[in-house]
Amino acid sequence: MATLMVERSSVRRKEATRHRGASCQRTLADPVKLVGRGLHSGGESRVIIHPADAGAGIVFSDAAETIRGLVANVVDTSRGTTLGVNGSRIRTVEHVMAALRGRGIDNAVVEVFGSEMPALDGSALPYVEAMDAVGLVEQDAPRQTVKLREPIIVQQNGSFIAAVPAQALRITYVMNYDHPMIGAQSATYELCEEDFGHKIAPARTFVLYEEVARLLDNDLARGGSFENAIVVWRDRMSSKLRFPDELVRHKVMDLVGDLALIGGLLQAEVVAVKSGHALNVEFVREVESRKSKVKSRR
Ligand SMILES: [Zn+2]
Repeated sequence: MATLMVERSSVRRKEATRHRGASCQRTLADPVKLVGRGLHSGGESRVIIHPADAGAGIVFSDAAETIRGLVANVVDTSRGTTLGVNGSRIRTVEHVMAALRGRGIDNAVVEVFGSEMPALDGSALPYVEAMDAVGLVEQDAPRQTVKLREPIIVQQNGSFIAAVPAQALRITYVMNYDHPMIGAQSATYELCEEDFGHKIAPARTFVLYEEVARLLDNDLARGGSFENAIVVWRDRMSSKLRFPDELVRHKVMDLVGDLALIGGLLQAEVVAVKSGHALNVEFVREVESRKSKVKSRR
């Protein structure tokens, strides 16, 4: 673990900056700390996100291992994305990955005390607020982008993700639940560091009431509560929504987090229909198998 911990003094510092443009890599100006319960384990989970050197990427560390936030290290995708190596497991990484990508942070060490990221309020907003409170620094290295050479489509049980080359990352997500409170919804979002925190990060996790008992039977959602997830009954929801389309915005956020496992900023027009973490990760693996990484100064 210690080898990848980065001394603050080793981060090349420029004046802390809000995002403008997208050409340089960025990291945090200072470490940020968050504490909460893990959604699935129910145990207390603490995380410190540290600045990291240019080129480091996103790296998770627990007491035993360091695990790069890359698709090659995904070991489970049931109810969240789990990274692991050598028996170490870090569950539910998608929201912190979305917050880092959404705010344009390329390099960070996410030190996790416990085996799961804290659920916080079920969204990525607490991460974004903590990051904004310390500010970011630009680093003297071009951001790594991932361009597609050709269209890609992956599909699974009536769900699919299709992507074509583009200049920026734009995601359209379509969900269609046979449920009176949800039904068909779609959202289109172009990844924009200025408004990620307002438009996508606040969208919370949701769970159907019918699923709650099944999750508990499977030893999942032990830390779930009305404070960190929206529970959806047939005729109501457990809290007032932050956006009329909060549920589909959350799906966009999960996809932003899973796409960050590519290890660079994907430049593609992506349409996802009813995809979840398993298909998101399969898509990233497909991109990985074909990708041409281009270091560009846009
Ligand atoms: Zn989520």
